[in-house]
Amino acid sequence: MRIDILTICPELLESPLNNSIVKRARHKGLVRINVVNLRDFTTDKYKTVDDYAFGGGAGMVMMIEPVYKAIEKLKSEREYDEIIYTSPDGERFDQKSANSLSLLKNIIILAGHYKGIDQRIRDHLITREISIGDYVLSGGEIPAAIIIDAVVRLIPGAISDEQSALSDSFQDNLLAPPVYTRPADFKGWKVPDILLSGHIAMIEKWRHDQAEKRTRKLRPDLLNE
Ligand code: SAH
Repeated sequence: MRIDILTICPELLESPLNNSIVKRARHKGLVRINVVNLRDFTTDKYKTVDDYAFGGGAGMVMMIEPVYKAIEKLKSEREYDEIIYTSPDGERFDQKSANSLSLLKNIIILAGHYKGIDQRIRDHLITREISIGDYVLSGGEIPAAIIIDAVVRLIPGAISDEQSALSDSFQDNLLAPPVYTRPADFKGWKVPDILLSGHIAMIEKWRHDQAEKRTRKLRPDLLNE
């Protein structure tokens, strides 16, 4: 998989893309992540990427030209399955979107700023718009990092034990069951006996029951899906 991120703030992406599972997946060659600085596609000496909104009003707008040039350059090099814009009014990102994105080969993610991006970018260049939730952030970099983290951990080989991603919350519309580690008894707070029994089948059943119980209690809506 290859992911190109278009941004005016590459620094915001540095830490999330260079640590933990995403870092390991990149090192293993499972995903290539390329951060493109939109200022490299400007023509004036101030590297301007924003301008005043036509019609007036508060807030700057990201200009179409640097975005167009960056996308055209990438598209001349390979074909893209999706060109995504992170936006509060996009489709809501969830585990199903992460699953489907993880099957794609090449994607571009455009991170917005200011009041947003010139609508013509959305009308003519973007193929999909994704929101990470009903709140407004200052830029699309953190949403992009969230999408990438959720997607990359699903690529086979990214997590050492592949089962681990499949048994996470929201797969099969269930929340994850509780987990414990040593010590088995901490100041009298004990780990459930069943987990120490060594009886694999019974442990599996217990985990499934717990997942269902937790889902019924915390997210009954998932069970109806
Ligand atoms: N004026 C816009 C918000 C702009 S916020 C509106 O009211 O809809 C600036 C940028 O942050 C956006 O262009 C988008 O790329 C990003 N962003 C903010 N909140 C987001 C969210 N919930 N999901 C995805 N991207 C978001």
